[in-house]
Amino acid sequence: MDVSARIEDAYAQLVRRNPGEAEFHQAALEVLPALEPVLAAHPEYLDARIVERLCEPERQIIFRVPWVDDRGVVQVNRGFRVEFNSALGPYKGGLRFHPSVNLGIVKFLGFEQIFKNALTGLAIGGGKGGADFDPKRRSDAEVMRFCQSFMTELHRHLGEHTDVPAGDIGVGAREIGYLFGQYKRVTNRFEAGVLTGKPVGWGGSYARTEATGYGTVHFTQEMLRTRGKRFDGRTVTISGSGNVAIYAIEKVHALGGRVVACSDSFGYVVDEKGIDLDLLKEVKEDRRERISAYAEARPGAVFSARGSLFDVPCEVALPCATQNELDEQSAIALVKNGVQAVAEGANMPCTPEAVKILREADVLFGPGKAANAGGVATSALEMQQNAARDRWTFAQTEARLAAVMTDVHTLCRTTADRYGSPDDYALGANAAGFLRVAEAMAAQGVV
Ligand code: GLU
Repeated sequence: MDVSARIEDAYAQLVRRNPGEAEFHQAALEVLPALEPVLAAHPEYLDARIVERLCEPERQIIFRVPWVDDRGVVQVNRGFRVEFNSALGPYKGGLRFHPSVNLGIVKFLGFEQIFKNALTGLAIGGGKGGADFDPKRRSDAEVMRFCQSFMTELHRHLGEHTDVPAGDIGVGAREIGYLFGQYKRVTNRFEAGVLTGKPVGWGGSYARTEATGYGTVHFTQEMLRTRGKRFDGRTVTISGSGNVAIYAIEKVHALGGRVVACSDSFGYVVDEKGIDLDLLKEVKEDRRERISAYAEARPGAVFSARGSLFDVPCEVALPCATQNELDEQSAIALVKNGVQAVAEGANMPCTPEAVKILREADVLFGPGKAANAGGVATSALEMQQNAARDRWTFAQTEARLAAVMTDVHTLCRTTADRYGSPDDYALGANAAGFLRVAEAMAAQGVV
């Protein structure tokens, strides 16, 4: 059987064995065809059935999360942890608390995480978890009780050398605090390295909060540099207004760019003067309000509940909200308005059709598994600090993060050059991430 037939076969098998998991299928379809030239050069990975093994998680945990809300009513949610691949290190990846979470979503995220984590060059395997719980609609006390119930079950599967969760959508410092408190209580161990994204006061790393957004901008800057361009003076749109978007905005402004639009699930704001970051942080982080409150407080800013942020003209667009938020129509609008680079701060925010449009228009495209790897990379740096009972300065940590992002960028380009064209960052990221994992899996035997 030839290589492309083997890949098609692996994909067909994945679809058959994981029915209804559309996002997982999409994530696999993004990776598998890119592996054709790599597998043609490495038939030993075909013999070892590395692709088939990679597509099957090592372990999948699904559990009931019962808890009592503020009215005294019993609530039942579903918790997940997919421990996808441990060839390069302990399972590593965030927890997402959002009503849309199901097994297919967790698998897509976990599958991407394998390659992303491999690209960082740090010793972390791939995993992801979460629950169909909506912290936005809940009081602090409810979030605490939910986190305690979630960890009461999950703790038995975790450990600093086994599986190390962190945050993702709906899981920030507050949730990590409650999760860590319960882990410590039920295990009777202050095992700092079992969770990352902790506050700096008790085992967290400086720059972890900023890392995903900063890293995405750093990666984009490297892409722009290959065409002799910079952020300075450029107009930028960034979807989302969570942790990733906020620190992406901060970094773009520091580099002299101007972010003129951001969003949440209710709509988007356009602020031609440039987003006022202090106000945005106050609205979203302190007051936990909708983005419309930003426009109400800021003269000249306009809120839209309809339409798409990607219709706003820009030279660089950074989708930093959620999967499949940037579709074909959005990509067409971006190209028409002269966009030069798009990099994914979120996980899989561009649909395959959108990526095709951008690539055909020769727009620089940074796929999430490379462009947003700064978050998990800094989590791995947090694990290093925990293992050494040490704490690095902000400047030291940010310098390490910047070096990782530069390396990821170079690796993507050189690998893409070897197997296709240097500007094809998606090919480079998939091939380079795969090669690192495949080499380790082959060496570790059939396990
Ligand atoms: N959820 C983040 C991601 O998608 C971070 C994971 C981590 O820090 O473990 O990569």
